[in-house]
Amino acid sequence: MADDLYATPEHALFRETVRKFTEEELRPRAREFDRMGRIDKQLFERMGDLGMLGLRYDPAYGGAGLDWSFTAVMYEELGRSDNAGVTMGISVHTDMATPSLAQFGSEALKQQYLVPAIAGDMVSAIAVTEPDAGSDVAGIRTRAVRDGDEWVINGSKIYITNAATADWLCLLAVTDPDAGYGGFSQIIVETDTPGFRYQLLDKIGHWGSDTGQLFFEDVRVPLANTIGEVGRGFQQQMMQFQDERLVACVSTIAASQELWRETRRWAEQRVLFGRPLSKMQNTQFVMVELWTQLAAARELIRACVAERVAGADATEKISMAKLFCCRVSRQVADACIQLHGGYGYMKESAAGRAFVDSRLGSIGGGSDETMLHYLAKQLGF
Ligand SMILES: Cc1cc2nc3c(=O)[nH]c(=O)nc-3n(C[C@H](O)[C@H](O)[C@H](O)COP(=O)(O)OP(=O)(O)OC[C@H]3O[C@@H](n4cnc5c(N)ncnc54)[C@H](O)[C@@H]3O)c2cc1C
Repeated sequence: MADDLYATPEHALFRETVRKFTEEELRPRAREFDRMGRIDKQLFERMGDLGMLGLRYDPAYGGAGLDWSFTAVMYEELGRSDNAGVTMGISVHTDMATPSLAQFGSEALKQQYLVPAIAGDMVSAIAVTEPDAGSDVAGIRTRAVRDGDEWVINGSKIYITNAATADWLCLLAVTDPDAGYGGFSQIIVETDTPGFRYQLLDKIGHWGSDTGQLFFEDVRVPLANTIGEVGRGFQQQMMQFQDERLVACVSTIAASQELWRETRRWAEQRVLFGRPLSKMQNTQFVMVELWTQLAAARELIRACVAERVAGADATEKISMAKLFCCRVSRQVADACIQLHGGYGYMKESAAGRAFVDSRLGSIGGGSDETMLHYLAKQLGF
């Protein structure tokens, strides 16, 4: 693995841009974003201007044509936004809802939806999970039925990030219930289409993002809005999940490192029994354990990024990373809240927020058990 995977002068320059954006435009507004309860659409316009929304996409559509190592740099910095919900809303747009369109979409679809997504003029969401099917993706029931040159869509999706903000959805729907894994399609649905509505959900964490339930009642979209081939949606979505999971690993570990540093500062200042908390051996051992876990997580992420940069299928490593990194981030949050004592339990404390925010990692985008199930099969069990 090349030592300079993310450390060329180009990476350093790009890191500086994202860091400045994070420090000046995200962190100072972090609690304001929580109160808003939805992501500020203007952030996307700003990020579009900064060239941050299409890092790996073709310059012909406004992308930067860079490899995965730049995505890693971006989310190492955005993970420090002090608002996991905002980071999540951004990553849904850049790496969860748009990869299939960029890879499989027709020229017309890319012009209509990818170009404005990269520019920050349109925001996207990924709509897979349903009230009766999450981990079991093949169990979804939202149905798209062909009528002439249109799809007529009926059904419901739940826990969808950017529900209130998105201009379009990358929707996974059943297009042929008798075709097994060949019976799903990815379809772009504009959120101002008649018959579509959403309802926001009240979450225990990730307050800065808008998560909602989506309803489709005879929603008509052109057949031409199908991403790639009709019937290939399940396979395309499984590929799209790989970017989603790796971005989640990078940003969650970056957030955990930030929390670790904040906890160290706290422990150095907090005095009890006549000495700083940081001078107690238990504190030092806990912090060292966490730092070691974080270092291991970073190395695993790095191995995944190296595979992506080399164009290899990184599914197995990404599944391990998703499992490991999300667990490490929960462990860090739990230990850091403990070291903060009562203050850690306050909503205003970073440790308290991380405790609920980090909990999502092991559930969303493929739960721990989904990763374990896949890896058990890979290991021949
Ligand atoms: C804040 C938030 C944002 C989200 N954003 C989006 C989004 O933008 N788009 C989207 O499509 N979805 C989104 N989701 C949904 C998320 O991806 C699902 O919640 C997740 O996939 C789990 O599905 P489920 O909730 O239906 O749980 P279930 O699938 O019902 O799982 C229930 C339990 O069973 C476990 N389980 C799963 N497989 C196995 C197995 N093989 N063996 C044993 N146990 C198993 C699960 O891990 C879990 O513990 C979001 C969720 C949340 C909470």
